[in-house]
Amino acid sequence: MKVAIFENDGEKSQKVGKELYQKLTDAHIVIDNSHPEIVITVGGDGTLLSAFKHYQDNLENIRFVGVHTGHLGFYTDWRDDEISDLVTSLQSDNKQSINYPLLDVKVDYFDAESEKFLALNESTLKRINNTMVTDVYIGDQLFEKFRGDGLCISTPTGSTAYNKSVGGAVIHPELESLQMAEIASINNRVFRTLSSPVIVASNDWITLKPTQSSDFVFSIDQEIYHNRQIKAIKYKIAKEHICFAKYRHNNFWKRVNEAFIGSDYAD
Ligand code: NAD
Repeated sequence: MKVAIFENDGEKSQKVGKELYQKLTDAHIVIDNSHPEIVITVGGDGTLLSAFKHYQDNLENIRFVGVHTGHLGFYTDWRDDEISDLVTSLQSDNKQSINYPLLDVKVDYFDAESEKFLALNESTLKRINNTMVTDVYIGDQLFEKFRGDGLCISTPTGSTAYNKSVGGAVIHPELESLQMAEIASINNRVFRTLSSPVIVASNDWITLKPTQSSDFVFSIDQEIYHNRQIKAIKYKIAKEHICFAKYRHNNFWKRVNEAFIGSDYAD
């Protein structure tokens, strides 16, 4: 088994990364950051998002494991004081894994070649200084004309991130679906949107065709792109998945409860 360690720049993560390196080496596990089968991230959800971006061309061969050096994250199951247990789990690895859906994003530009992206959490399209106006298609059918600050299209695992902050529903990650949530839509007697989040099934797709402008803020997870002449963005569930090594079962609703409610939750 070949393992990569991907840590953030924080002092604690660097220290835990070194400790992990030593423990893996002592256990005769090969460290290979170029062609790993397991990627262990050390940091928070943001670190996992960065590792996902770094290794996204090789997702079919990789399983991810997240160690958190701060508070419990959504993609980080192991505490930094559990590294020895993690190494023991790696030694008895029998390829257990769990797959989650990703967002396939294709952007057409007025002035450049189309581009494709993969998102683990979400993609947003926003316009900050002025109202964003965009036609929203579900499948090939025009659904509505959106006016407001922007739209957030998320995966099920991303539903607890930005999507939740803008009033989207939390979706269990075993449901292969896409969610579109509005960011400050304008609704009055003249302008009308559905005004609630929309969840579309795995065989459907969402297309945004904004009115021509160059002052959009377009995001894919942590990456932000400015000043692009966007003609259309097509969102669908990707054929790729992200795969997590499943050495322990972390109940999704328990995780949601711990992160957002904080009451005792019995499994
Ligand atoms: P960051 O440092 O600004 O952290 C954002 C927070 O989102 C962190 O607490 C992180 O743990 C949490 N988070 C990330 N993915 C999550 C998930 N799937 N479920 C629940 N919480 C999650 O930025 P970052 O760590 O680089 O993460 C980038 C993410 O931040 C984006 O993908 C987006 O989802 C989120 N974000 C949220 C808002 C908002 O809620 N208003 C705004 C911008 C970005």
